[in-house]
Amino acid sequence: PEAINIQELANRMSERAVDVIRLLMKQGAMHKITDVIDADTAQLIAEELGHTVKRVAASDVEEGLFDAVDDSTDTEPRSPVVTVMGHVDHGKTSLLDALRHANVVSGEAGGITQHIGAYQVTSPESGKKITFIDTPGHAAFTAMRARGAKVTDIVVLVVAADDGVMPQTVEAINHAKAAKVPMIVAINKIDKPDAKPERVRTELLQYEVQVESLGGEVVDVEVSAKNKTNLDRLLEMIALQADILDLKTNSTRPAEGTVIEAKLDRGRGPVATVLVQRGTLRIGDIIVAGAEMGRVRALISDQGDTVEEAGPSVPVEVLGFNGPPEAGDRLAVVENEARARQITSYRAHRKRENAAASISGMRGSLEQMMS
Ligand code: GDP
Ligand code: MG
Repeated sequence: PEAINIQELANRMSERAVDVIRLLMKQGAMHKITDVIDADTAQLIAEELGHTVKRVAASDVEEGLFDAVDDSTDTEPRSPVVTVMGHVDHGKTSLLDALRHANVVSGEAGGITQHIGAYQVTSPESGKKITFIDTPGHAAFTAMRARGAKVTDIVVLVVAADDGVMPQTVEAINHAKAAKVPMIVAINKIDKPDAKPERVRTELLQYEVQVESLGGEVVDVEVSAKNKTNLDRLLEMIALQADILDLKTNSTRPAEGTVIEAKLDRGRGPVATVLVQRGTLRIGDIIVAGAEMGRVRALISDQGDTVEEAGPSVPVEVLGFNGPPEAGDRLAVVENEARARQITSYRAHRKRENAAASISGMRGSLEQMMS
């Protein structure tokens, strides 16, 4: 439910916060100026102070933007989205780079993938596509989760065979478990003379990660990012895990997705890498993400090609935002610019309010300090 900080409520009515608190006290509730009260209580107070209340609920503005609940039309299979995690120096970046080039060998032109924050590869055995989020590390994963964005279907946990389970390995395991995302263990650096893959498997047991050879259900693959050993097998295991997850989507609806990263590019203006999750994103679509809006001017694939559209599980660079959104912001296509403006101005307002509320405290709100 909606809620408001007492100081902010007072500001909006141009009343004194103490008067709000006094009224609340009359109703039997003791509050500090920094307390947050629910919208119904706030409305009551406002009316008692003689104000007319026009409530704009998030649900009014955001209505129909994401029908996460209505997934009855999700009937088409989609590729899995994978995040690579693990301890520093265990080879996350090396593995992501090696996988990126893993099936470039198979001929055809181009093949020079550019870093846009995510990329797709095809498993050579099954021909199935897999999307990798190209920002290894827990910060990105946690930030996305904190924003309620769920992009990852599978976590690949990288553990160096010469180093074993380390603090960030454990952190990654906890992240994956908390997010209820299945894990595949890539035991990396098996080319090293002091590699002890068996020790890694045993150590993982302490954290309730039980690989198949030790009687569990977690798949592990011994790899060398350096020598590109067993990468095809890793891809195939990911594809298999994805089959089990039975991931479904609907490519025919207006696009929904998540911003993986965004920046202000000198030449191109605001550029956002978006992972499309449902529907199809097309040139000309009117889009909102966080407090930013725009019209899709160009879409650029992970191969650096200009494309007309991007479907589910496909990462694309999106040009046409008025300003760069933030990583983790959810993207939606809306019917027209007026709607986009309504949504983004509401969100911008909320954002300012939250920022003000968090710095206000007892000294009063930002507005008061400035006036
Ligand atoms: P990250 O911190 O997890 O991203 O690790 P990096 O990919 O940066 O790798 C850390 C170091 O390990 C680098 O010096 C890599 O060259 C090296 N490295 C990564 N994978 C392998 C591997 O499979 N074998 C060997 N011998 N070295 C590797
Ligand atoms: Mg790295």
